[in-house]
Formats: sequence, C-alpha cells, structure tokens
Amino acid sequence: MKRAEQKPMETRRKTRTIYVGKVPVGGGHLVVVQSMTKTNTLDVEATVKQIQSLESIGCEIIRLAVPNMKAAKVLGNIKKSVSIPVIADIHFDWRLALEAIEQGVDGLRINPGNIGAKWKIKEVVTAAKNNLIPIRIGINAGSLEKDLLKKYGHPKPEALVESAERSITMLEGMDFTNIKISLKGSNVLTTVDAYRLFSDKYDYPLHIGVSESGPASTGIIKSSVGCGILLSEGIGDTMRVSLTAEPEEEVRVAYEILKALGLRKKGAELVSCPTCGRCGIDLPGLATEVEYRLRKINKPMKIAVMGCVVNGPGEAREADIGIAGGKGIGILFRKGKIIKKIKEKDLLDELMHEISQWK
Ligand code: SF4
Repeated sequence: MKRAEQKPMETRRKTRTIYVGKVPVGGGHLVVVQSMTKTNTLDVEATVKQIQSLESIGCEIIRLAVPNMKAAKVLGNIKKSVSIPVIADIHFDWRLALEAIEQGVDGLRINPGNIGAKWKIKEVVTAAKNNLIPIRIGINAGSLEKDLLKKYGHPKPEALVESAERSITMLEGMDFTNIKISLKGSNVLTTVDAYRLFSDKYDYPLHIGVSESGPASTGIIKSSVGCGILLSEGIGDTMRVSLTAEPEEEVRVAYEILKALGLRKKGAELVSCPTCGRCGIDLPGLATEVEYRLRKINKPMKIAVMGCVVNGPGEAREADIGIAGGKGIGILFRKGKIIKKIKEKDLLDELMHEISQWK
C-alpha cells in the first residue's frame, strides 16, 4: 500500500490503554486533546469558567497547576463544577499530590525526579493505586537531573529517555503501571527524537507536545511540526499544544493538527486560496470572518472560499459548500452544484446561512 493510501489510524503505534476519569488514552483510541488552565487555581470561579469554556470547544482533559496546599484544597470544588477529567500538576511537594488525590482528581502529573526521597514517591504511588488514578511522568528538558546533563552534555533525546526510564523503573518496582509519559523540550527535533526513541522501547501511552513553544505566531508552527511529525509516525495518544496564548487557542490548534492528519473529525475545515492578481473580491476579509465564525460550528464539513475561476470552481465543488469569486460577485456551490450567483456584499451572510442549513 502506498503511503498516501494508508489510513492514519492503522499506522498508530500500539500502546496500552489507561483511563483518565472516563477518557481512554492509548490503545488506538482517538488522540485526546488536552490543555492547561492559565488562571490562578485558587480563583475557583475564574478557573471553572475557563475550564467550561475549554470544554465547550472540545477540550477533553484539563490540567491545573497546584503550586501550594491552598490550591490543592480547592481542587474538589473545581472538579464538582466541570465535566472533563482534572489532572493535578505537582512539583516538589508530595503532600500536594496526596491532597489532590484526596480532593478527587482524575490524574496526576509529576516528575518523580523532583519529588525527592523514594518514600515520598511511594506514598503518592500508593494513593494513586488505591484510587485507581494514573500518573503522568512528565520529563522536561528544562529540569533534567544534573547527572544526566553531565553525562550527555545537554538535554539530548537519550537523556530525556533515560530520565523517563529511571522513573518508570521506580514506579514499576512499586508495582504501578498506570502510567503515561511525556518527554518534552522546547527544541522540536530533540523532542521528536526523544519520543521516537522511547516508543521503540516501551508501550506506555504518550502525551505529546513541544514545551514552551512560544507565542501563537511561532508556537503554532513549532507545535504543528513537532506533533505533526510524531502523529504522522503513529506516535502520540494525547496532546497539548503549549502556547503563550489563551488556552482556547491551544485546543483549536490541536484539533487543526489532528484534522489535517485525518486523526480527528471536528467542526468545519476551511479551504481558502492565497489570492493573487486575479482575485476580484475582498477574499482575505471574507475568509478571516468565515474562519472566525466556523469556530462555533461543530458539524464536520468542508468549506471552500476561493478567489476566482481558475481553481475556485474546482475547490468549491469538492467542498460541501463553497464560494468561487468573480468580479464583485461569488458563485455559491453546494455539494458540487451551483446554487446561485451572489453580490459581494451579501457573500458572507449567504454563505453562513447555507452553512447553518447543512445537515
Ligand atoms: Fe488566484 Fe484564483 Fe488561485 Fe485564488 S483561486 S490564488 S484568486 S488564481
């Protein structure tokens, strides 16, 4: 079978399934989209509002920073008001992890390397085991063990994998395998190679992403390249696009990456041309507004907004609904058939009306 003919789901690497709340991760299940709140966790109202907003656009798991005991103690209140699984992100203090479990969280993200003594990790692992919740071992290039940095010189992929192996060995030694792994760095190729190396050796489900990838303008590109390479090689069971931007943007971009690879179907896909000297309408204005309005539409459909008759009718015909521009006008297509000719000033309204009628 030629590469282009392969179905993406058939090429996914085999991992075991774990459950974060009711959400299956790994084992060939759909790649799960997650994000992280950017509010102060102690501000329960603002945090719940942000999670509900993320839920409404398809976020499937949410992670919250738990920097201190006060934040750990409000997790139960937050969890009561949201429907998606909540993961507590804990560093350094094992007691925060115990309290988070007490508060009913659905998963933990820890880096055993910074929790310290083995007995502290054992307490966390025992509590996770008793409450049937998974632990993500989150390895980050920015916080690798000192001896590994010395051994490898800098955060090489092999160093990230060795760090993960240490934690896995420790947790497996405590008879705990309800684990998922992440091996993130801000360097795209290091991150990609670390995940490749790891998935050649282990079948634990993988949370993928490029860490600290930057503001949206560059972060979206780094995340798309990094996650795109990994997902196209069948690596990755859940993902977060980390952006210095609103978390809603992280979720939107994650779905766009997954849709581009045929791994998820969600909402509308917009095709629009780059425009050129042949374009006879304000296509950039129209496409920008259509793209914005399509974010609120959950029906899987393909929309084409094209500038002229060169590629316009072809693309518009291939789409479920399309516009091919002319001089101050547009031709509206539905399932490949011309519906009508519309004046430029009415194009947006008519197109959105047609989209709203789509079943
Ligand atoms: Fe130019 Fe027409 Fe192609 Fe758009 S569809 S880029 S306007 S030739």
